Amino acid sequence: MAATLIDGKKIAAELRGAIGARVSALQAAHNLTPGLAVVLVGEDAASQVYVRNKGIATREVGMQSFEYRLPADTSQRVLLDKVNELNDDSAVHGILVQFPVPEQISQQTVIDTISPDKDVDGLHPINAGRLASGHLTGPGAALAPCTPQGSVMLARAALGDLTGAHALVVGRSNLVGKPVAQLLLAENCTVSIAHSRTRDLAGLCRSADVLVAAVGIPEMVKGDWVKPGSCVIDVGINRVEAPEKGLDDAGRPKTKLVGDVAFDDAAQLAGHITPVPGGVGPMTIACLLQNTLTAACRQHDIDEIA
Ligand code: NDP
Repeated sequence: MAATLIDGKKIAAELRGAIGARVSALQAAHNLTPGLAVVLVGEDAASQVYVRNKGIATREVGMQSFEYRLPADTSQRVLLDKVNELNDDSAVHGILVQFPVPEQISQQTVIDTISPDKDVDGLHPINAGRLASGHLTGPGAALAPCTPQGSVMLARAALGDLTGAHALVVGRSNLVGKPVAQLLLAENCTVSIAHSRTRDLAGLCRSADVLVAAVGIPEMVKGDWVKPGSCVIDVGINRVEAPEKGLDDAGRPKTKLVGDVAFDDAAQLAGHITPVPGGVGPMTIACLLQNTLTAACRQHDIDEIA
């Protein structure tokens, strides 16, 4: 392997450590403890794990964690009432509703109901608009989505200044692709966005100094699409069968996680690359805590403690 691994686990742990220190300083100086509320509707197994991990990480940095688990048949009205109650709760500085929500509930209506000041997922149209207009620091700035923030932090950790780099984002979702592109633009990259209708994706990838893959198709980006020496950020998390690992207790092939990039081949050409797991994934929760800290400071008109 020629590429240097970008260790998202380590970088995320350092970020969580720094956030923990700032939470302590905030408590000492202002008697303020940031609070993050996570709402889960239904029994989805993966979502339960995510919510549990978010709660653990929140408490570990000294913040207050509030968890609400609602049954799968919860009506939209009941969920919106809960969101409004949290909007009005002064101990709660960040609100996250775990998606996907059951089909009787409109995800967009939930997003629109969360107060933009407490929208630590960064999905509210006001935060998306602030991000698109480049309003990223200071009072009233965007709370940017967590996975995109984490992806750009990893590119910066690998390359330092990204000014002038050609960044290609493969994927244009509101959750990942578009906000990553906006954040890379704010880093003075020259940004291209590719999607399912893009022509000559392989050729475009070969021109990218920073390649961010956020597609959701296992190992779609082939090794020889990667520009030699480039920085590859793989956002994808895909569970695939791994017959080489044998069978589970039920006699089915065991599984493993892979990204959207064919890692082994891409790592031969790239200069830096994120692994899956252990790359972008751990950064998402760290950035959620960062957003909660930022939201708490802004709601109390306190300069964020550096
Ligand atoms: P979406 O399904 O919402 O978006 C996928 C995007 O990929 C779309 O814009 C789509 O294009 C594009 N696409 C699909 N097929 C192709 C193709 N053949 N060529 C080029 N582009 C294509 O996914 P998300 O953005 O929500 O997630 C992307 C990946 O990131 C997933 O693997 C997901 O699991 C992972 N993820 C990881 C997180 C983490 O914490 N690390 C958090 C969130 C997501 P079009 O718009 O034209 O349909």
